[in-house]
Amino acid sequence: MAKYTPMIEQYLEIKEKAKDAFLFFRLGDFYEMFFEDAKLAAQELEITLTGREGGAEEKIPMCGVPFHSAEQYIYKLIQKGYKVAICEQVQNPAEAKGVVKREIVRVITPGTVMEGKMIGEDNNNFIVCVSHFNDTYNLAACDLTTGELYETSGQTSLDFIIDEIGTYSPVEIVSEASTYSYIHERMSQNSSTILMTEWNAKDEQSVKEQFTTKLWESLSLSSQHCVALLMSYLKETQKRALSHITNIHSYERNQYMTLDPFTRRNLELVETVRDQSKKGSLLWLLDKTATSMGARLLKRWVDKPLMNLNSINERLEVVDTLVQQYIIREDLREKLKNVYDLERLVGRISYGNANARDLVALKKSLEQVPALIEICNDSGSDNLSSIVHSLDQCTDLKDRIDEAIIDEPPISVKEGAMIKEGYHDYLDQLREASVNGKQWLAELEQREREVTGIKKLKIGYNKVFGYFIEITKANINLIPEGRYERKQTLTNAERFITPELKEKEALILEAEEKMVGIEYELFNDLRNELKFQLPRLQMLAGIISTLDVFQSLAKVSAENEYCKPVMTNSYDLNIKDGRHPVVESISKDQSFIANDSLFESGDQNILLITGPNMAGKSTYMRQVSLICIMAQIGCFVPASEATIPIIDRIFTRIGAADDLVSGQSTFMVEMKDIQVMTEKATAKSLVIIDELGRGTSTSEGMSIAQAVIEFLHNEIGCKTLVSTHFHELAHLEKHLPFLKNYSMSVKESGDEVTFLRKLIKGAASTSYGIYCAQIAGIPNSIIERSYLLLNTFESRDVNNDSNGLIDNVVRETAVTEQPVVESPLMQNKVDTIQMSLFEELEGNNTEVNDKQKKENKDNVIEKELRSLDLLNITPLQAIQFLSDLKSKL
Ligand code: ADP
Repeated sequence: MAKYTPMIEQYLEIKEKAKDAFLFFRLGDFYEMFFEDAKLAAQELEITLTGREGGAEEKIPMCGVPFHSAEQYIYKLIQKGYKVAICEQVQNPAEAKGVVKREIVRVITPGTVMEGKMIGEDNNNFIVCVSHFNDTYNLAACDLTTGELYETSGQTSLDFIIDEIGTYSPVEIVSEASTYSYIHERMSQNSSTILMTEWNAKDEQSVKEQFTTKLWESLSLSSQHCVALLMSYLKETQKRALSHITNIHSYERNQYMTLDPFTRRNLELVETVRDQSKKGSLLWLLDKTATSMGARLLKRWVDKPLMNLNSINERLEVVDTLVQQYIIREDLREKLKNVYDLERLVGRISYGNANARDLVALKKSLEQVPALIEICNDSGSDNLSSIVHSLDQCTDLKDRIDEAIIDEPPISVKEGAMIKEGYHDYLDQLREASVNGKQWLAELEQREREVTGIKKLKIGYNKVFGYFIEITKANINLIPEGRYERKQTLTNAERFITPELKEKEALILEAEEKMVGIEYELFNDLRNELKFQLPRLQMLAGIISTLDVFQSLAKVSAENEYCKPVMTNSYDLNIKDGRHPVVESISKDQSFIANDSLFESGDQNILLITGPNMAGKSTYMRQVSLICIMAQIGCFVPASEATIPIIDRIFTRIGAADDLVSGQSTFMVEMKDIQVMTEKATAKSLVIIDELGRGTSTSEGMSIAQAVIEFLHNEIGCKTLVSTHFHELAHLEKHLPFLKNYSMSVKESGDEVTFLRKLIKGAASTSYGIYCAQIAGIPNSIIERSYLLLNTFESRDVNNDSNGLIDNVVRETAVTEQPVVESPLMQNKVDTIQMSLFEELEGNNTEVNDKQKKENKDNVIEKELRSLDLLNITPLQAIQFLSDLKSKL
């Protein structure tokens, strides 16, 4: 076996502890990587791969990055989903016997990045942990940059955990062995950019000490297990105290509306489907926050609509107050603009990264607090007043910073010029010495000019030679013999020193060096002092962000003329003149057509919406969901009046969301969504089905659509919006008492079809698909041929009554009175050729065909009767079954 040099041996030993990370091994001014790490890093970072003698026969592959610019390389690797372990020299090289001692001081991972471009100001940077304990699944989520920690536990199914993970949009997930592969598989379907680690080690004792005994003991055992697991991972990688993580927000799943990842995506709550950008999402519309903390909190509110009626009403009361009072709202906003990101400042203080400018920002933010409190108290809102009631303003902390730090300190904390005069006696004395020294230098310059008669003589300073007297070459001959000692020759000048100058220099430099040291020490003491006050600052930050979210929701509500919804715990939902908030705001020049929505228990649970493509069906259905979500967030809603019941969960099955990431077919995804919906929906849920059953044959698609609708109607009773281009499904209204047909109205004149975007009662009689194709510019020959074929198919359906249910449906709708007229376009084009086609299809054996058809019909009916499971059928289903049989006969 190869024998390596002691340093490489040390490297290998340390690398053992960071197998899944790049090991950045500190060597002087560089971080070096060796062996496989070096090869991969050279590739990923596009840096040169070299080699180094390491004791073995062959050179060891090596590459490195300079210490001072390492950050950009580290973040490049993190962004690509790697971990980076930083290994520093932890011993003074002068004291080392043999190889200098080195240790890993921190492992940086996507979920533990503290600074830099990777963490967006308006986004949290969550790391999530999933654990399995006593047959329950548990989740904890932490944002290390702010110190927030959430946990929910005791779930019997991992499905909820998957939904919950979606609300955090984590960049990293750690999970226990028993859940790892499932989570890994499910999350890889949704996103390929999350770093996943299997993690089983936990040091419960040290984690426990992080929190107060009262808080820790208030957690269930499974919560403790999960939090301990996550905190152990953070401690193991960060190798520090994490003093800003002191609070744990525990919650139960029924506190918030459940939204699965697909529904979140389909409804474009926080990002658009098309390009995953915030612009165009509900969050984008609602975000008029003045601080980054507020922006992040708003996102969490959008991600987690409330379920508790009182809590929603409390939020609505505050928003209402701020909607009514423009001046109060704007005052609040103005003051909030001067508040910095306290949550992240707290994170930096905890990590020891905060500089003097951060502390000044903290002071300025704290200065806004009294005014914020006054505004809230003056608003007349009980809830706003109680939010700020007995709020800890942290005035003492503001005063401490104010007495110590000057108003405009430099970025660096190692160059002095941070601490105010009068703060520290010895520092003041040194400053005086330094000022006096400089005064002495000025006098020296003056005196030497006079003695030598050289007007251009000057005193200068550089880091290598210290202070010197500089005289141009032209004047050298004027220097009295032996007056100065030559130190340096330049092209045009000579530099000299004197023993007196060097003596003074020592005093000045010593004072300056001491000053810088003392300033750093004083600053560090103050920063450490603040470390013990972080929970107070976090509490204050939380309240300021809440105020910001309120003003944001109120501003959007007022500017867009939203109304305050009446929230109830009952079933009925009634929206008057509802609008889609985002579509409305984007299409400012065209007016948005408002539509009502009504769901009433015992009358109307399902709205079956037919109408051509582009008529506005999807927009309408999404608008109902978004209105419910906005109301449960505590925001006003885009309508003239709205009564909204608490919705426990929204399901969306929205067509065309091909799951390309996971490589699943649209149809399979659709069926899986439907499966989840049938299993999980309750009467309090809202279900949106946009174009069901498109991914298979027409008859199969229509059959599935009908069966699903029947199931939701008979078994669940949830509020359901179904849009379909199978206008034939309209017949269901006859059999399902709580289903009502609606359509998006269109106006036809001549060859033109105009979308009116108004929801009206009754079903549409055609899909206008070919008309849409025509608008899209498809050649006329194809359009004509399509109309011809369509007519052929429809004629075949009308004349072939042997296929049971679906054909029946077609026949029934053909005679239904419908509000929308048959397309004249279609009618004219096909009339003339109809007869000949019929003949061709039916053939000449009419008699034989009729007999055959009757037999088929009898068979079908007999078969259906036999297969009926009488013990498992509701009275309603029985009636419908009979009605279906009758119509078949
Ligand atoms: P469908 O689902 O019926 O195919 P969409 O809901 O996608 O139709 O609507 C098509 C377009 O019509 C949307 O992009 C939107 O711009 C516009 N639209 C929809 N509803 C309305 C409305 N109520 N008022 C104004 N424009 C609308």
